[in-house]
Amino acid sequence: MAESRKKKSLRPSALGAAGLGEEKPPEPDLRQAQKLVLELLALPGRSGREGQVVRFIRERLLEAGAPRDALRDDQSHRHTPLGGEVGNLALKLAGTHRGPRRLLMAHTDTVPLCEGARPLVRGNYVVPADKATALGADDRAGAAVVLHAAMEILRRGLPHPPLTFLWTVQEEVGLYGARFLHLANLGRPRLAFNFDGGSPEKITVGATGGYRMEIRIQGVASHAGSAPEKGVSAVVIASLAIARLHEEGWHGLVEKDGRQGTSNVGVIRGGEATNVVTPYVEIRAEARSHDPQFRQKIVRSIENAFRDAARAVRCSDGSAGRVEIEGRLDYEAFRLAGDEPGAAAAEAAVRDVGGEPMRAISNGGLDANWLTARGIPTVSLGCGQQNPHTTAERLSLPDFRQACRIALRLATGTESSG
Ligand SMILES: [Zn+2]
Repeated sequence: MAESRKKKSLRPSALGAAGLGEEKPPEPDLRQAQKLVLELLALPGRSGREGQVVRFIRERLLEAGAPRDALRDDQSHRHTPLGGEVGNLALKLAGTHRGPRRLLMAHTDTVPLCEGARPLVRGNYVVPADKATALGADDRAGAAVVLHAAMEILRRGLPHPPLTFLWTVQEEVGLYGARFLHLANLGRPRLAFNFDGGSPEKITVGATGGYRMEIRIQGVASHAGSAPEKGVSAVVIASLAIARLHEEGWHGLVEKDGRQGTSNVGVIRGGEATNVVTPYVEIRAEARSHDPQFRQKIVRSIENAFRDAARAVRCSDGSAGRVEIEGRLDYEAFRLAGDEPGAAAAEAAVRDVGGEPMRAISNGGLDANWLTARGIPTVSLGCGQQNPHTTAERLSLPDFRQACRIALRLATGTESSG
């Protein structure tokens, strides 16, 4: 770095070039970027087992010339329910010129369906070679985009503002890496760009908040043949409650008085035999909305449906079932201000590469939820990932290349201004 900085000082026009356009913005080596993403896709690393991926990233950064002391990891995994192999990795560089610090980030973990995935280039796409696995482009494509931008800057000695690169862990299991991130490793970024799923033209400036619930239904066991009337069926309680949520419009897409959210009863477990009135059923459900009050309302409706159903099902001696409900907020919703500088910069970078930027609000949680909640307003951009978390997952290579071009502009502060 020191050497490359000296080199740059011979080109004063480039030093203050942020957005002034005296010098052509740097273009990444897209062939190298594709090679990099294929290597990253081939590495295993579901949530909590990102060790190999993080090691790969660290080695590449060092090879490209990152000073060892600019690399920082944290112990975020020590605070998560999963434990896990490693924490987040950050690379913090002083700027070759002044300016607000910028952050580029992506998560390194993939969902379990990606286990054993082998990437295969087919025309304009990368697809999984095996039809039984997903691909893991969510979010190795993002990890590659951010890593490639860092490597280009390091290798070519490109001028840049103060910069932080960040690779997080355990995003897919509850945004834990971002949630427990050691903020001091980042050095107070003012503009933050998170590279995750979808189209590179999609600038996500907000995301929904999510609430998870565990509902335990306690009935009364009894012989289903000789004394069914003495039992209270937890299955019946669950059915009544879920049917009511469905009928009253509180399940699935929830739209009431112009407010919107979603809910889902996703897991239902209980019962062991047909000759026993089922005494116990366990349910896991979730509710989401950008509007915290409305999300609360959905949660309340779910709770009421189960409590009322438990009271309604009684056995011959009059006793009813019981429910216990435990819930927790996974992440709070956020929406960035309309004039957030990171959003404007991202839009400019998208236009610069010939794209048509589109602001979007996500219905899924993102690392950006936690970064923003912790004082770093973060914009998210896609990298060409399609159909994540399914065996139809694929990566659009033209979109991935665009994301690489956008990222390098954002990292070097060379997107057009205004
Ligand atoms: Zn993702």
